[in-house]
Amino acid sequence: MNTRDSHVSRRRFLQLGAGGLVAVPLAGLGWTTAAQAAELERLSEDDATAQALSYTHDASSVTHDSYQEGSRCSNCLLYSDPEAKEWGPCSVFPGSLVAEGGWCTAWVGRG
Ligand code: SF4
Repeated sequence: MNTRDSHVSRRRFLQLGAGGLVAVPLAGLGWTTAAQAAELERLSEDDATAQALSYTHDASSVTHDSYQEGSRCSNCLLYSDPEAKEWGPCSVFPGSLVAEGGWCTAWVGRG
């Protein structure tokens, strides 16, 4: 290997390393693909985290003080597949699907 090859290899190594540094944090964002979502189960309102966040399948029944009229899972920033109908993935509940018309105290408007 000559000096030029060595520089090319080092540059390529650094490019791959930089790509890896970006990919690792992105992998942790909790976004769920449609294929992954198909394997998830519906969140139970009895789930401990769901109860801690006052999650309900039906936003129209919410009486919580922090509820904003019209807020629901389907217009929440954390509903990670806005195209999902009826049930979809949520970044707060990565192992489950939440109801499109649901709500919890972690709701964040899409702005
Ligand atoms: S964080 Fe948003 S999408 Fe997830 S359950 Fe709460 S309101 Fe629904």
